[in-house]
Amino acid sequence: MTSVYIDEDLEAIRSQIRHYVEREIVPNAEPWETEGMVPREVLRQMGSLGFFGLRAPKEYEGIGLGAIASVVLAEELGRSTFGGFTITVLAHTDLAVPYILRFASDDMKERYLPAMVAGETIGALAVTEPDAGSDVAAMRTTAKRDGRGWVINGAKMFITNGVHGDMVVVAARTDPEAKASRGISMFAVDKGASGFTVGRSLHKMGWKSSDTAELVFEGCRVPPDALIGEESQGFYYIMQNFQNERLVLAGQSLGEAQRAVEITIDHLRSRTAFGGVLWDKQAVRHRMAWAQTKIDAARELTYRAAWMEDRGVDCVREVSEVKALVGETVNEVLYDCVQFHGGMGYIAETEVERLYRDARIQSIGGGATEVMLEEVAKRM
Ligand SMILES: Cc1cc2nc3c(=O)[nH]c(=O)nc-3n(C[C@H](O)[C@H](O)[C@H](O)COP(=O)(O)OP(=O)(O)OC[C@H]3O[C@@H](n4cnc5c(N)ncnc54)[C@H](O)[C@@H]3O)c2cc1C
Repeated sequence: MTSVYIDEDLEAIRSQIRHYVEREIVPNAEPWETEGMVPREVLRQMGSLGFFGLRAPKEYEGIGLGAIASVVLAEELGRSTFGGFTITVLAHTDLAVPYILRFASDDMKERYLPAMVAGETIGALAVTEPDAGSDVAAMRTTAKRDGRGWVINGAKMFITNGVHGDMVVVAARTDPEAKASRGISMFAVDKGASGFTVGRSLHKMGWKSSDTAELVFEGCRVPPDALIGEESQGFYYIMQNFQNERLVLAGQSLGEAQRAVEITIDHLRSRTAFGGVLWDKQAVRHRMAWAQTKIDAARELTYRAAWMEDRGVDCVREVSEVKALVGETVNEVLYDCVQFHGGMGYIAETEVERLYRDARIQSIGGGATEVMLEEVAKRM
């Protein structure tokens, strides 16, 4: 693919990730779907190859790239057709790590980043609660100061990497008196902290090789330096990083939709019916051409929004447009891809059947389509 947003170096990184995915992920990932997790040695291997350090600066063994690089990573992982594998990686690299990278003190960076970049420590981000998803400011988890640090109480819901991750970036209300969005702070909580448990491992429609947890904090004690950045700035940190999170979810969806189209065209070129291959039917060909057109348009919008994010330009409207458009597009494309596989598209464990199930969350998670359109409408 040629793009004005991607230089030769990034094109080389793209091709490195693509080869890695084709060689190490596609042939091996099927059992991870039943095991409900990606093996730790795979994540360590990805870390050792530098895939987790695209955003980290050189002093932490990274290469200091921006949101465009994250979208490239997401697209290429998405092409694996194993959405659970992809989100396991992205929840670490682009949901959890950015809080340490962007907002943490040097001491905290020193404590976490080298191991996170190496894939030794895997992170998760815990914002959503049983009664607060789209409405982030409605969260009820609290963190209170006591003489020896902070005590966290509450529950988090649907947390990717929550079962097998090593640390969780947790949002909690530190000022109950403050206006809903004002009194929230972020904490780095290690697995094994007293009072922190995995309540439930959640079984899902798709993303099967990713672990998803309900997390419980009952008098969970963390030290004073577990606070990320400044107290009461959590809501702003979350809103800032939402742009990156939404861009990588879009990248993942684009990679998945693109791969689904390729797989479907291969199928259409070999499957015969009514005296010829299905690809010869214009009605079929045009639906695939339309799918490709939508993907190409959505991809341009995604890279443009990532380019704005990298330049520090306010891009909430553009990213919200991207998240709404791509979340819907991947579902529309996968609907057609399953349709054109006929009965085989409905058979469990074919690639399109998995992609179809994996796509469903993309119009819900990380900002539902309706919520994204409201962000756009507010800025019209
Ligand atoms: C597999 C999976 C992984 C996830 N991983 C993480 C994670 O790692 N960390 C994390 O913090 N969260 C995670 N989430 C949570 C995810 O981001 C939320 O599910 C999502 O934000 C929606 O919140 P909700 O489920 O509470 O839905 P609700 O907020 O209850 O909304 C339900 C539906 O109502 C509609 N709706 C909501 N608000 C509006 C509105 N203002 N106008 C019109 N319609 C509206 C939308 O269609 C929405 O889908 C994950 C979720 C899933 C399922």
